[in-house]
Amino acid sequence: MLEDTKQMNNVAEYLCKTTEKFPNKVAFLDTGGGFLFSELNEYAKRIATVIIKKTDGITNEPIAVRMKKSKECIAAFMGVVYSGNYYCPIDLTMPSSRIEVIFETLRPIVVIEQEENQDQDKEKSIIYNECMNIQYDDELINCQLNKIISVDPLYVLFTSGSTGVPKGVVVSHASVIDYTEWLSDTFGFNENNVFGNQAPLYFDNSILDIYSSLRNGSQVYFIDEKLFSFPKQLMMTLKENGVNTIFWVPSALISIADSGVLHENPELPQLEQVLFCGEVMPTKQLMKWRKRYTNTFFANLYGPTEITDVCSYYVVERDYADDEILPIGKACKNTEILIINEKNKIANIDELGEIFVRGIGVAKGYYRNKDRTQSAFVQNPLHDDYIDICYKTGDIAKVNQEGNVIYVGRKDNQIKFQGHRIELGEIEAAAMSVKNVIRVCAVYADVRKKIILFIVLNTELERVGEKEIYKSIKAKLPKYMLPSEIIIKDELPLNVNGKIDRVKLREVANEGYIKENSRGN
Ligand code: AMP
Repeated sequence: MLEDTKQMNNVAEYLCKTTEKFPNKVAFLDTGGGFLFSELNEYAKRIATVIIKKTDGITNEPIAVRMKKSKECIAAFMGVVYSGNYYCPIDLTMPSSRIEVIFETLRPIVVIEQEENQDQDKEKSIIYNECMNIQYDDELINCQLNKIISVDPLYVLFTSGSTGVPKGVVVSHASVIDYTEWLSDTFGFNENNVFGNQAPLYFDNSILDIYSSLRNGSQVYFIDEKLFSFPKQLMMTLKENGVNTIFWVPSALISIADSGVLHENPELPQLEQVLFCGEVMPTKQLMKWRKRYTNTFFANLYGPTEITDVCSYYVVERDYADDEILPIGKACKNTEILIINEKNKIANIDELGEIFVRGIGVAKGYYRNKDRTQSAFVQNPLHDDYIDICYKTGDIAKVNQEGNVIYVGRKDNQIKFQGHRIELGEIEAAAMSVKNVIRVCAVYADVRKKIILFIVLNTELERVGEKEIYKSIKAKLPKYMLPSEIIIKDELPLNVNGKIDRVKLREVANEGYIKENSRGN
């Protein structure tokens, strides 16, 4: 397998080879129908030809793809690649203020748009449909591709920075090729996989679906985002579209497990692989999936956008108790994970430290943001002998006796409270072990100087009150870690990537202060 791709300079070769092998196989499918690999390849080349002519053959420049999530987006991404440039997905559902900030940083040379949503001046805009009317020029395209080397950028994904200003993570062809090869070797992806895609295209989890398909000739079905609020219909959709592989954020799996539909029809005998990444997967809901789909393969993948989606993984091979933490496992091949303690040394077994990652997957930094790049992409703290850049994740973890990494929480979720160092994740793990609790989020309301615990209860079980929950947690946590307040909610808000929205919950937790104050006035 690897022999084929060893010399690859760019990911366009995936699409070329797969088109030769499976021209008439459906590649990407959405509610509006599907593109065969031959169609995808042809449409991408048409777009590339328009870009090359419009930009006088410039290479290695950013191109924004400002389109609704669809199979057409993938044709646009690959069009950008064939033109010798790199793409940045801009979703139409993003708030316009965010899009503005991204555009100010990215300064794209052109923007690919759909006619009905055109927003850019004519000079910059390329209308997708208009590209479909032209002949493509293979000679022009090959000339551009020959200029690309594997360390050139492939895409820029903007992630929400903790300051609220999005940072553009620049990822190279080499990183994505390394990742895609690892995925195929590890999970045995081939032309028979049908991915049910959940991740928005501006979120790094989508890289797994897109490039596994382009490499192996698998099919990707873009699930309508609205369906994630209707678990029963969602499961029907998986069945109807023959989806056998999913790679979702845990929140999506949790809402299905909590809805009770796992024990109803439809059966999903074809569901072969359930992979997840992006936040902590509680064992309580994971076990519901595992008990329902006994022949299905489950794995916990971990990684930030800055290391090309995933850098460690853990295959779930046994049952887990509600209060056990699922490891994020061991580093992927060709990647190293270092757990660095406060003395800048490798942490001992069971000692907490920050996760640093080395490998080809490490991104090229943040777009036009030298300061933030320098503070996150740093020299390997273990030596100063030559340049050896690691990504400093801001995630706290430890290695257990079996050599598996256990994720404990974000550094920003580590607080100093009355002199004690507290991992909010530990409070969450204790709360999750209470029988009726199905979702939790602990936040530190910095204005009120209080730890607030948000909880969602299983409505099918007898309702427990805040006092009972507090009593159960008290038996598991030291006194200084106990939350000042427990707030029971019907559901927890999710952010644009589908993960629990901690920023919003922190605001809600602090708002209590504003309300308390205004009552006092
Ligand atoms: P993103 O860059 O949006 O993919 O977010 C990356 C962050 O999500 C990581 O730094 C972790 O804090 C968190 N994360 C990713 N995967 C996992 C996982 N399997 N378990 C716990 N947290 C995770």
